[in-house]
Amino acid sequence: MKNRRGMEYNAGMANLTRSSAHRRSRGIGYRRRRPVWLIGLLIALLALGVIWTAVRAISGSGDGLGTVQDQVQQGTAGSASGGGAASGGAGGTGGVGGAGGTGGPEGSGDAEGDAFLTAEQVRALLEAEDAAPLDENGCPVTEGQREDRDETPLLGGAELTMLTNQSTGQMMSFLLKTSGGSLIVIDGGRWEDGDHLFEQIREQGGHVSAWLLSHTHTDHVGALLKLLQSQAEGTDMGITVDRFYYNFAPLEWYMVHETGDLGTAGSILSQLDALPQEQKQTVERGDVITVDDVTVTVMNDRYEPDADTVGERDGNDASIAYRMEVNGLSILFLGDLQTIGGDLLLEQAGAEALKSDIVQMAHHGQHGVSEEVYQAIDPDICLWPTPDWLWANEDGSYETTQTQEWMKALEVKRHYCIKDGDQVIR
Ligand SMILES: [Zn+2]
Repeated sequence: MKNRRGMEYNAGMANLTRSSAHRRSRGIGYRRRRPVWLIGLLIALLALGVIWTAVRAISGSGDGLGTVQDQVQQGTAGSASGGGAASGGAGGTGGVGGAGGTGGPEGSGDAEGDAFLTAEQVRALLEAEDAAPLDENGCPVTEGQREDRDETPLLGGAELTMLTNQSTGQMMSFLLKTSGGSLIVIDGGRWEDGDHLFEQIREQGGHVSAWLLSHTHTDHVGALLKLLQSQAEGTDMGITVDRFYYNFAPLEWYMVHETGDLGTAGSILSQLDALPQEQKQTVERGDVITVDDVTVTVMNDRYEPDADTVGERDGNDASIAYRMEVNGLSILFLGDLQTIGGDLLLEQAGAEALKSDIVQMAHHGQHGVSEEVYQAIDPDICLWPTPDWLWANEDGSYETTQTQEWMKALEVKRHYCIKDGDQVIR
């Protein structure tokens, strides 16, 4: 257990060789069964790298090879420097290329040259892990509880933060920093969660390239409401946003289908309404949003019940699902989809397109989409925007326990939960 990381990694290698996925086993086989002559070659390359660095330092000039090295370094330093999107993005690609293949740039002797894993290598790493262990209550042990958690970067220099609740209420707020340093926000949480999110955005330069919204409920758009209202009142929040992405119904719809949270729907609609046209985009299924090397695909149409049907929580089922590709890994954000909206998503996208490496648990991990939808997604990593009381199903009235059972059956490897504070996945 103490040495879980090392042991499991080795076990993973074995698994991989057995795996029928040829591409994966080939990728990992390169790293595992490194023959003697290859080690010799690597040492020779290392020596060449040292000599070359010395020659460069003396001559102070760069040529073709120098350019390759610069690219790779830019890639590894890109997230730290937070430089311009275009150059950072290109550098990131260079870094990933170096990681995946030749081993040449890795051999430059640069301590910072820790290359990122490719998506195939990340999947191999996760495949090698045991399903998350269980605690004494039968709940999966979350990453925040584990002292032996594996911190190997998965996202190729990008960083996904799932922010924790600042009130007791459930909420959902994500901040993704691309490997090029650009920011994407998903939802943002409640009004009370705003300052915590704004602080993190300002720490990263204060500029958001894309702000994606799932639906109009206060535990998702409250923080944004605070930002937009403050700015409308003339307060400088130190935050700029290129564009908001959403698909909300007109107010009349919420007057019928969302009387429980009508006030928030009305407020966010009017705040967005007041923004200039170029700062907002109504999304539709199939739309693709690109920020640096990250792509976001809109996965579903907004649920529209029959005119005479009012469901239990139509506002939740009207959530827009976004699927993000980061470093070749897929992250599916389900918002607060429940069974009707989830089934519609499955029907529209198809099971194959839903398969994802990482999933945000629908509706805070309980009373969300059906088990069938999760089976199609078949995630390795679950992100739970779920406060402690809900995670533990404290008063027994929630369905968190059932969802946890489903995830056990799917042998999910890692669970990140906001009950443990802000969760950062690199
Ligand atoms: Zn919610």
